[in-house]
Amino acid sequence: IEREQERFRQSHPRAAAAWEEGQQHFLYGAPSHWMRRWAGGFPVYVAEAQGARIVDIDGRDYVDFCLGDTGGMCGHAPEPVTRAAVRQLQRGATTMLPTLDSLWVGAELARRFGLPYWTLTTSATDANRGAIRIARMITGRDKVLVFSGCYHGGVEEAHVEIREGRVGLRNMIHPNGVDHEAVSRVVEFNDIAALEAALAEGDIACVLTEPLMTNFGMIPVAEGFHAALRAATRRAGTLLVIDETHTISCGPGGYTALHGLEPDILVAGKAIAGGVPAGIFGVSAAVAERMWAQVPRTNPKHRQSAHLGIGGTLAGNALTVATMRAVLEEVLTPDAFGRMTACAGRLAEGAEAVIAEHALPWHVTRIGARAEIMFSPAPPTCGADVIAGRDPGLETLLHAFYMNEGVLVTPFHTMFLCCPATTEADVDRHTAVFRRFVALLRQE
Ligand code: PLP
Repeated sequence: IEREQERFRQSHPRAAAAWEEGQQHFLYGAPSHWMRRWAGGFPVYVAEAQGARIVDIDGRDYVDFCLGDTGGMCGHAPEPVTRAAVRQLQRGATTMLPTLDSLWVGAELARRFGLPYWTLTTSATDANRGAIRIARMITGRDKVLVFSGCYHGGVEEAHVEIREGRVGLRNMIHPNGVDHEAVSRVVEFNDIAALEAALAEGDIACVLTEPLMTNFGMIPVAEGFHAALRAATRRAGTLLVIDETHTISCGPGGYTALHGLEPDILVAGKAIAGGVPAGIFGVSAAVAERMWAQVPRTNPKHRQSAHLGIGGTLAGNALTVATMRAVLEEVLTPDAFGRMTACAGRLAEGAEAVIAEHALPWHVTRIGARAEIMFSPAPPTCGADVIAGRDPGLETLLHAFYMNEGVLVTPFHTMFLCCPATTEADVDRHTAVFRRFVALLRQE
């Protein structure tokens, strides 16, 4: 690892200097703490990002499979988004008044995801917080059930994992005064019996989950799990919140539309406005009715619900709505998903071939446009499996090596995402770099 980090330092003198300077201005050395988590020891500084490519200030270029941890899944600077953003910036970004684009966006979200009523936020974190507030309001309950190994952004209730069979704080998070025992329940993903037992206690407002887990290593969903989850939440009077922030990479309506899930609330964000900060959540007609029922109607034609402190001054502003429209109309089209998925399939096959050539005890998981190399023989079934199967040293070595070889992947694990601009040549470049990485390991 040290050798790869030294190689990185030597070839990135400008980034090294920028990183030094950043220490004087930023709490984490960079504007956001996520930006510092790169295996080279410090991040590259972007000069320009276009399509699936990044050029840094040291003049090196990368094929980008990290894509802003899904925030850049549209590809960088897609022309329709740039055009819409420039046009809208010239006409005013934030007025706290709606534009006509919002009507198109609302109708399209309903069509794609199958839920009728939508709210825009400035991030997926905020959208998840909004979903939880609604669940608490209409159920009158406090607890949120999440799965061990989940991540849903800066949502306190979800900063938990299973520790010695109980709710334990995820070690990267400070308690912040929140009593997690009082507000969170955690069970292992795919464990239907544990889920049903927790829900049967009758004190859970909502289950917040990704359709399959993507954040600490991809965990595929077991046969029958979604049906059991839906049935058990209905029995318990608990809302089902599906967080599609990452799994929107499965297709135009995310995993939900592809597999006919029936969430009460659906959340997404990141790529949904082409990299302009945005989150969305949609609610079912039944949830909306229960919200409206709590507020007396002044005008019978206009439905109102308690605003619950959900929103944000910049939420749903004209810029976000214009770029979201461009994404939904011209960028994340069914055709684009077809190409992205084919590229991810090729990437997975290339990596699998290298693994097979060397008979390594590793595997590749892929779903839609997303793929992951895991250093364990079989896909994990739950959070505990992921922890047991990970090899942090090997992951850091791979990430540092990849940065030196011009390939960017999600720095927290070995996750790849393809965007509409990713080409077969980009994918083959990864296969060649992965082959060199394995050769390097063999040689040592
Ligand atoms: N939900 C999921 C599934 C995520 O993976 C993330 C971020 O990684 C979030 C929500 C939060 O997104 P943001 O940080 O953009 O608010």
